[in-house]
Amino acid sequence: MVTGALEAHGLHLPLSTDTILPTYLAERIASKTRALVLPSIPFGDSWNFDNFEGTISIAPEALIGFYSSVMTGVFKQGFRYLIVLNGHGGNIPELTIAAKTATETGQRVVIIVNWYKDLAESARKLVEETPMGHAAEDETSEVMHVRPDLVDLSKAESHRVVTKFTIISGMSREELLPSAMYGDPRKATPEKGKLIVEQAEEELVRLIQQLEKGELPITRD
Ligand SMILES: [Zn+2]
Repeated sequence: MVTGALEAHGLHLPLSTDTILPTYLAERIASKTRALVLPSIPFGDSWNFDNFEGTISIAPEALIGFYSSVMTGVFKQGFRYLIVLNGHGGNIPELTIAAKTATETGQRVVIIVNWYKDLAESARKLVEETPMGHAAEDETSEVMHVRPDLVDLSKAESHRVVTKFTIISGMSREELLPSAMYGDPRKATPEKGKLIVEQAEEELVRLIQQLEKGELPITRD
């Protein structure tokens, strides 16, 4: 199950960035394993970006209901494991609630993989010169690798607003996320994106191999 968003990503990346990247990964993984891929869900909770051009945000209660219906539908078909390959941070609260509902009974397991932060940790450390953000160096490099035709680096700007608190305000969206941006995409290259995406692929293949043996991806300290 691939969950994305239709959301402004600066002026240099496509609105579907958060759907394009995990969809690409899911299809690559499906070609290397016996895993099946569901159609991607192209909208998500993009409340933070609601004022930016091109963004369409889905209400949380609608998303929770939709996600849990898809999850329950998968389990009704007899599957035991469902990997959610999530491309968008705003979806995490809804995915978590939906997964709790869908796995309440039976031997059902939902594994939420927030691919942009859970995977390829060492590749990210190796190649990234600036901190992760939104439409920043990491994400821009990844889209340059997967869909270079959809990136316009000439429009890339750098913005970083720092606070130690969580500030929520519909009226301050522009102030918190200037140009729907957080980070510095100007250091992005397709080579960096390739390394990150390939390591993410390897980790996902390993996860599926583990699940095929009936093992959860857990290590004990
Ligand atoms: Zn994104």
